[in-house]
Amino acid sequence: MTIIAVDGPAASGKGTIARALARHYALPHLDTGLLYRAVALNLLRWGGDPESEFAALRACDFAQTDFADAELKSEMVGGVASRISAYPAVRAALLERQRDFATQPGGAVLDGRDIGTVIAPDADAKLFITATPEVRARRRLEELLKLGRTSHYEDVLIDIRARDERDASRAAAPLRRAQDAQLLDTSELSVEAAVAQAVAAVESRLHVVDHRPAI
Ligand code: C5P
Repeated sequence: MTIIAVDGPAASGKGTIARALARHYALPHLDTGLLYRAVALNLLRWGGDPESEFAALRACDFAQTDFADAELKSEMVGGVASRISAYPAVRAALLERQRDFATQPGGAVLDGRDIGTVIAPDADAKLFITATPEVRARRRLEELLKLGRTSHYEDVLIDIRARDERDASRAAAPLRRAQDAQLLDTSELSVEAAVAQAVAAVESRLHVVDHRPAI
């Protein structure tokens, strides 16, 4: 079983890298941000209050969720997701689903904020993907424009910084690099170069020769 944990802030490239690793190793992939986004979208559609942990917990029901819904990717939903993801009850409600995915036979690739620290602390390989806030804001802006949404660079940058701050400062499973995670800064890298470095980093962990004597 091979578990690969990919963590990092919004628009760092972690999703692209996680998908490429999943293809490379023929493993299933879970974008855990989508789970938090689905909770946020449920809450918005029910008219629930994002300030209420209880309401957010009630929205942790994926029976009606279409994970292909384009609305999940909107900035509005992302903003609410980053708020409700600070609630310990919400994180607890989503934990088992993520652990089950990680520990399925054969293994998996998961990307998020706390995969290497909380969901799969024993993962075989852990990557922490970063890029400067300015580079991430430019990437996010391009994505939004492709989706046909009008946005301004300055607004996207403010939003990215606010989300970083919330993700890193919350008490429950804050965004931080696991001690044994390999750092990959994609600011100056093309997608191809970032993926190549990610594969090399994972290879270096998966092929560590065990020199301990057999018992
Ligand atoms: O990665 P993405 O932007 O889709 O995630 C949306 C929000 O969900 C993030 O801002 C973060 O607050 C939260 N999240 C989290 N833990 C994860 C994945 C996402 O708290 N494992």
